[in-house]
Amino acid sequence: MLLFTPGPTPVPEFARIAMAGETLHHRTPEFEAIFAQTRELLFELFGMDEVVMLASSGTGAMESAVINLCHDTLLNINSGKFGERFGKIAKASGLGSVEIRHEWDTPATVGEVVETLKKHPQIDAVAIQISESAGGLRHPVEEIAAAIKAVDPKIMVIADGITAVGVEPIDTTHIDCLLAGSQKALMLPPGLAILGLGSAALEKIGSGRGYYFNLATEIKNQVKNTTAWTAATTLIIGLKAVLQKIKEDGGFAKLYDETAQRAEAAHLALNALGLHIYPTAPAKSMSTVDDADASAIRSILKKDFGVNVAGGQDHLAGKIFRINQMGLIEPYEIAWTLNAVELALAKLGRRAYDGTANRVFNQNYFKSIVENRTE
Ligand SMILES: *Cc1c(COP(=O)(O)O)cnc(C)c1O
Repeated sequence: MLLFTPGPTPVPEFARIAMAGETLHHRTPEFEAIFAQTRELLFELFGMDEVVMLASSGTGAMESAVINLCHDTLLNINSGKFGERFGKIAKASGLGSVEIRHEWDTPATVGEVVETLKKHPQIDAVAIQISESAGGLRHPVEEIAAAIKAVDPKIMVIADGITAVGVEPIDTTHIDCLLAGSQKALMLPPGLAILGLGSAALEKIGSGRGYYFNLATEIKNQVKNTTAWTAATTLIIGLKAVLQKIKEDGGFAKLYDETAQRAEAAHLALNALGLHIYPTAPAKSMSTVDDADASAIRSILKKDFGVNVAGGQDHLAGKIFRINQMGLIEPYEIAWTLNAVELALAKLGRRAYDGTANRVFNQNYFKSIVENRTE
C-alpha cells in the first residue's frame, strides 16, 4: 500500500535501517555524541537560537510551548482542528483564551489579528499553524508574526510548523517558537516533537512552567547533550539519519524546491481533472480536494490502486481528501496516485480516462528540467 496521508508519512528504508540497531542507553557518551550531532543538524533546519527535542507526539510540543510562553491569555487561530487544539490547551492549563475562528478553507488575516490584540491587551501569546493540516491551509504566519511584534514585541508568537518545517523555508525573524513533529515532514515514526526557540522566548521561559514539559529543565540538560527524562533514543538516531540524508542529497533548499514543484504540478493536474482545491490558500504540505465523491474516490484508490490518502474530520468527513506532499517522495509515486485519481473519476462515470492527470503533472513537474536544457 502506498501511504499518501499527510501524517504519518512513509519512513524511508535508510531511516528504518538506521533505527534497527541495538538499543543504546541514553546516559552514555555514545548516545550523547548522536544527540549533539542531531542538535547541530536541527540548528541548521530551524535557524533559531535554541532547539529542544521532546519524547511526545506533536501535541506535547504544542502544550509545552503554550504553558511555558503564555502566562496570561492565549490568542489561537482556529481554521481547523489543530488551531482549535491550541485553545483547548490554553483552557486546560488555566490560561485565558481568545479565539479567531474561520471555516477550514480560510486563512487568518493580519488585520483581524492586530484588531483582536488591541481589543484584548491581556493577550501575551499568539498560537497559529503555518500549515493547518485539517484542510491543507497555509496561514500567512510570517506577515502576521511581524504585525504582532509591531503591536508589542513582548507578545510571544508560537508557530506550529508540524506540517511546514522540512516542507518549505520559514522566515523565523518574528517567530519565537517553531514546532515540528517526527511523523510528518521529517519522515519518521511518531513520538518525537521538536521546538525551535528564539532569544525572546528563552528569556520569557525563565525557570519554566509545568513538570514533564518544563522547557527550562529540558534546555538545561539539552545544552549538555542529554535530556531531562529518558530520550526517544531510536527516533533521535532516525532523525539524525534523515537530516544527514537531506543534506547529502543536495540540502534543505533542494528538498523545499522539489516539494514546491511537486505540490504545484499535482495541484495543476487535479485542476485539469475538473477537481477543486479546497483551501483558498493551499499549503505545500498536502493537496486537499473537496468533492461530493471524496469517500468513493478514497475507497477506489485504496481497493483498486493500493493508495491510502486521508479523508476529512468533523464536518469535513466524507467531503474532502488529502494527498501528502511532505518528505522525500519519488515523482513516479505521486504520478501513480494522480493517475489513480483520474481512473477513479472514470470508474465513477465522471469523466473518460485520457491520461490528463499524468500529462499535466509530468509537463509541470519536469518543466524546469526541460527549460534548463542547453543543447
Ligand atoms: C499532526 C499535527 C499536530 C500534532 O498531532 P499529534 O497527533 O499530537 O502528533 C499538530 N499540528 C499539526 C498542524 C499537525 O498536522
